Amino acid sequence: MLQCKDVVRETSDYLDGDLPLFKRVGILLHIAICRGCRHYVNQVQQTIRVVSVTQPKEFDNTDTQALAMQLHAAYEKSQSDNV
Ligand SMILES: [Zn+2]
Repeated sequence: MLQCKDVVRETSDYLDGDLPLFKRVGILLHIAICRGCRHYVNQVQQTIRVVSVTQPKEFDNTDTQALAMQLHAAYEKSQSDNV
């Protein structure tokens, strides 16, 4: 069984899909029973989403209104996921 420190160490590779199947299953089992690690993995996932939204490919054509709406939607989703 993975420990919390193992989940923290492997979270980035887990979210990138770079882990072998047995490690992915180990993390899934751990976050199913460990609220702290589940929260940690969700937070890292949210951070990656926000960073990818705030670094658009075309800088001269950024739609700030759409960006604000995406950030608001990501925030709303994170609030509903944590219930
Ligand atoms: Zn844990």
